[in-house]
Amino acid sequence: MKTTLIGLTGGIGSGKSTAALLFAELGIEFVDADNVAREVVEPGENCLKQIHDHFGSHILQSDGRLNRSALRDVIFKNPNERAWLESITHPAIRERLLKHIESLKGTYALLVHPLLFETSQHTLCQYTIALNVPRSLQLDRVVARDHNSKAQVERILDSQLSNEDRCSRVDFILENTGNSADLSVKVGMLHNKLMTLLTRT
Ligand code: ADP
Repeated sequence: MKTTLIGLTGGIGSGKSTAALLFAELGIEFVDADNVAREVVEPGENCLKQIHDHFGSHILQSDGRLNRSALRDVIFKNPNERAWLESITHPAIRERLLKHIESLKGTYALLVHPLLFETSQHTLCQYTIALNVPRSLQLDRVVARDHNSKAQVERILDSQLSNEDRCSRVDFILENTGNSADLSVKVGMLHNKLMTLLTRT
């Protein structure tokens, strides 16, 4: 039987990685788009070579890895450079994602993606799930996790779909306002629902 691909989305700090691990405990495989985005700019990858050729050596750290904060600085100041970067990285990410997706097994598997709708990758998925948390809680959780300033996190939140818009587009919503035990219960219930839905003859 073909594996059904389900998109798991939510803004930064909404709990996607936490939820994906809870699904994994139930035997569900997932591919995380953030990890794939990091993979394509690892040393030795064609994307990193092109970024180096385009921006020059200051875009690399002394160990040859991408200097993410230097890159963020450049593209934050210059939308054309952002567009160029995305024209290089987005196709590579998509290609690599598709390869990972092909290898997923089970009744269903998850594509974990913060920008599932923004990048149109929801079209790869048969169903979609969104994590939903109030923006203020997202902000607190990200500041605690990444030690970023509130202003930096606000900027990222502003570049993503609002929770309201995202939730209006998905098939299932996981509210993540409680503690991690609460989320675990909700993931278990949704998993049972999906298994029933997908194994119905
Ligand atoms: P995302 O992958 O969507 O960016 P994470 O899963 O990394 O979000 O969650 C953001 C932060 O909030 C992490 O530090 C995580 O441990 C914490 N977190 C997630 N869900 C909960 C929860 N229900 N209760 C408390 N902390 C949580």
